[in-house]
Amino acid sequence: MTLSYRFRWSWLVLLLAVTPLFAQSMPLVALQALSKQSYMVQGDLGPASTSNRGFNANAGIVITDKAVILIDALGTPALAEELLASIRAMTDLPISDVIVTHYHADHYYGLQVFKQLGARIIAARPALQAIGAPEMAERFAERKVSLSPWVDESFRVIAPDLLIDRAMRMQLGGAWFGLIPAGPAHTPEDLMVLSEADGVLFAGDLMFAGRIPFVGNANTKAWIKGIEDLIRAQPKVIVGGHGPASLDAANDLVFTLQYLKHLRATMGAAVQDLKSFDEAYAEIDWSRYRGVPAFDAAHRRNAYNVFLSMEQEALRP
Ligand SMILES: [Zn+2]
Repeated sequence: MTLSYRFRWSWLVLLLAVTPLFAQSMPLVALQALSKQSYMVQGDLGPASTSNRGFNANAGIVITDKAVILIDALGTPALAEELLASIRAMTDLPISDVIVTHYHADHYYGLQVFKQLGARIIAARPALQAIGAPEMAERFAERKVSLSPWVDESFRVIAPDLLIDRAMRMQLGGAWFGLIPAGPAHTPEDLMVLSEADGVLFAGDLMFAGRIPFVGNANTKAWIKGIEDLIRAQPKVIVGGHGPASLDAANDLVFTLQYLKHLRATMGAAVQDLKSFDEAYAEIDWSRYRGVPAFDAAHRRNAYNVFLSMEQEALRP
């Protein structure tokens, strides 16, 4: 009796000791409710790593009367299995569709799990260019090492069954969704998804809340238009590809919008005046952005990329 009591007590101590470690290093694929029908799972904020098993991106789940609609499929087949288990704890409804916001590894490596269950895969048409591009094979080689054993030779790139060419409404599982291609912004194939019943918008990696966005070689003109379309859609909640859902959607979008507009206006003027980038950058007052997180890491490069793209736009008729 005493022995078994002590035995159980020691297990409890051990459990308490390791639980915080697990909670920190192994984020659970647990559904967070956003409304009566929409949910998300939120990945770790850091990069994909063995400590988070590649769970560093979000996925959206909308449960309609007839089906489960997914937005993205997480970063490994194993994570997709965990997501499936979390969904199955809520409902037995079929998973009819998976909408891929873009073909970056952390968002689509779990697709094969849902495809096998009969789900239709939906993506924006430029996804076809991403599939088969050399970057995709390079990423797979990298993930087999960085996310071993969760990414191995059993991984398959699952191509979309349905391609989206323009913004449209579509009934999925009996509920209405807005499918909004927004690329080329974060990627050429960016696709956002609005659940009309509850106003939850799944924006993929388009929205950057509370930090300077990463512009990369984005098409800022199209990105701005995409955000303007978004603001018109008046989403109540935005779920980005990383980090918590935003309940102050309009505000978070306006920040990114104004930032991109400011870059285009200032860099566009520099190009018109035939100034060098360094000269223009030094003259412009960036004070309103200086204190914003990621300014040092991203801002100058963002400005330079926009400068280059404004040069190209000026050369085009
Ligand atoms: Zn991405």
